Amino acid sequence: MLEIHQFPCLSDNYGFLLHDPDSGETVAIDTPDGAEYLKQAEAKGWRITQIWNTHWHPDHAGGNKAIVAATGAQVIAPQEVEKLSPIDREVAHGDTVTLARHEARVIDVSGHTNGHVAYHLPDDGIAFVGDSVFALGCGRMFEGEPEQFWNSLARIRDLPPETTLYCAHEYTQANAKFALHADPDNAALRTYAAEVDEKRARGVPTVPTGLARELATNPFLRADDAGIRQRWGGATPAQTFAALREAKDGF
Ligand code: ZN
Ligand code: FE
Repeated sequence: MLEIHQFPCLSDNYGFLLHDPDSGETVAIDTPDGAEYLKQAEAKGWRITQIWNTHWHPDHAGGNKAIVAATGAQVIAPQEVEKLSPIDREVAHGDTVTLARHEARVIDVSGHTNGHVAYHLPDDGIAFVGDSVFALGCGRMFEGEPEQFWNSLARIRDLPPETTLYCAHEYTQANAKFALHADPDNAALRTYAAEVDEKRARGVPTVPTGLARELATNPFLRADDAGIRQRWGGATPAQTFAALREAKDGF
């Protein structure tokens, strides 16, 4: 059984440490803040043996060097992470990485950046999705194209619905406001948004989230929904997605 330790990092990132008690191995999922990761690992009595980066942004790979210097951890990452640190093993769509006997499939979820991957552990029912999909939102499209981003989201939609999604930021409350604007008649969304407000009022994280719930409420995963398409236009789901993404940028 894997242990997942989640903790706040920087202003609104989450840090994740994934620990296999049988082997003693520990993976850092992204590295927003190297010192904080080392501190959290030490408090748990864990030593970080691997880093799995989702994409090259500094709030995801900026702590690689400090963690490697302190632990000798292996860096597993898409090629673009070389902008920030050396990589021991470059990964791309279709690759498999392992934490002891736990396997993770590498999925291309580019769109926020090029070379953005998610790590899906099918036997554990979890996926680390970085800044591709958020609870009730998706990442800003910095480097990608709408078609590419939509195809990436389709790969996430294809995961088993009971999958737990670990996204990298606490953006849910702001995302919920836009989601309600995008899809105002969605009753499941209204229930979800109220729950998010209540959790944030108590300072409780809204991450992780469940894929099934996102499929019913996250407008960016629902760009092919008839009601959303009618409201936002677009001859294809990718075009509807593009309209939603643009509206969110200026919301
Ligand atoms: Zn990012
Ligand atoms: Fe980020």
